[in-house]
Amino acid sequence: MTAVRTIAELDRSSVLHPFTQLKDYASGKIGDPTIVAGGKGIRIEDAQGHSYIDGFAGLYCVNIGYGRTEVAEAIARQAYKLAYYHTYAAHTTVELATLSDRLVRMAPGKPSKVFFGLSGSDANETQAKLVWYYNNLRGQPKKKKIISRERGYHGCSVISGSMTGMSFYHDHMDLPFPGILHTGTPHHYWGAEPGEMEESFSRRRAAELEALIVREGPETIGAFIAEPVLGTGGITPPPAGYWHEIQAVLRRYDVLLIADEVICGFGRTGADFGSTLYGMEPDLVTVAKGLTSGYMPLSGAIVGERVYAVMEEAAERVGSFSHGYTYSGHPIAAAAANAVLDIVEKERLSDRARVVGAHFQRRLSERFAQLEIVGEVRGVGLLGAVEFVADRQTKRRFDPDLKVGARISKAARDRGLIARAMPHGDILGFAPPLVVSEAEIDEIVDLAYRATKQVMDELAKGT
Ligand code: PMP
Repeated sequence: MTAVRTIAELDRSSVLHPFTQLKDYASGKIGDPTIVAGGKGIRIEDAQGHSYIDGFAGLYCVNIGYGRTEVAEAIARQAYKLAYYHTYAAHTTVELATLSDRLVRMAPGKPSKVFFGLSGSDANETQAKLVWYYNNLRGQPKKKKIISRERGYHGCSVISGSMTGMSFYHDHMDLPFPGILHTGTPHHYWGAEPGEMEESFSRRRAAELEALIVREGPETIGAFIAEPVLGTGGITPPPAGYWHEIQAVLRRYDVLLIADEVICGFGRTGADFGSTLYGMEPDLVTVAKGLTSGYMPLSGAIVGERVYAVMEEAAERVGSFSHGYTYSGHPIAAAAANAVLDIVEKERLSDRARVVGAHFQRRLSERFAQLEIVGEVRGVGLLGAVEFVADRQTKRRFDPDLKVGARISKAARDRGLIARAMPHGDILGFAPPLVVSEAEIDEIVDLAYRATKQVMDELAKGT
């Protein structure tokens, strides 16, 4: 294990890790890093040879599973042929043009063009600039504010981090940026009044959005950005009627809809896109994660006809489109995405996520819904969550110091399952690779159930 220790020390002394308590890591209090060394199918392996079922597909991204040689070979082929060229001034590659055409054909709304980036965060940053550009070009220079939702997640760069409706992404970092506003979370379990049905709750959330638009002045509101299914904010499918009501408000005030499909896109919900599942007609669509299943960094800001038409029409007046990265449309990432989408299509992963997902939702409910510390079991397709509360009747939360969600996640990990403790309460989240089988789903739910029972026993004993 000398080599493993050395790597741990190199890491501890040099890597600045996201979402890690820096002092506890530096001092060794939270132990050594997990050195992830390999992966196959739905499993990863660490450097000591421990195997884990990855019930979260990395960070909801490895939809096709680990170790797919077809993708590795496509990446290698492209690297041998042409490792890099840029896409400035109308340069392209076969792989990129093929991928872009494919996305325009499959994306929701009325897609026209794709701007390629490297991450969900930078794609949402691009979306904000597109909203501003579009409204400047069509003579509405005040129409710039962007509304997102409390507990929405859209990234952590300056604008995307401001769109993210979670205070711990803002604190001590001078966010949110002015002009980015937030409206209520569409979570019926926590947000509804006693006895309020989902449809009325959705109408209330839409009325709140409308009140915000009217208060700020509709001439100042450029866009509304949202995930079809709230992801990092708690894996929360929208309440019945939500998207119908929200879109009616957006249309009334000429506000663009940006669908953040970073998690939902490419099959996760059991449909090709979350927008398709919920009848959303977005003007701009953000994709990342599942686009390459995490095999390479790649994202897309997909521009709908309505916005693109204004951009092209103004081109003679304003000159070239001045926005682009060195790595926009990177050929190796494009080759990886094409190989991944071939698998998604050939193996019909959206259909599979619908069928295996229905089994998953059923099993999750069967095992968890009756447990006395479970407030809500929820999900859609291969996205699922169990939320724990101290009192089911009153919905009283556990004392945060008990760290119930984190302990259940840790107990699951000790049993060989990665299921993520999510913020905003005690929530255990699941997003397994879309290639998961029904038998593997049973194993995932069983491991999570046994981990939960273990922590329930500890809580009963006061340990
Ligand atoms: N949007 C959504 C819905 C996401 O879930 C994420 C990442 N979890 C992002 C945007 C940001 O993507 P990235 O981490 O690649 O910047």
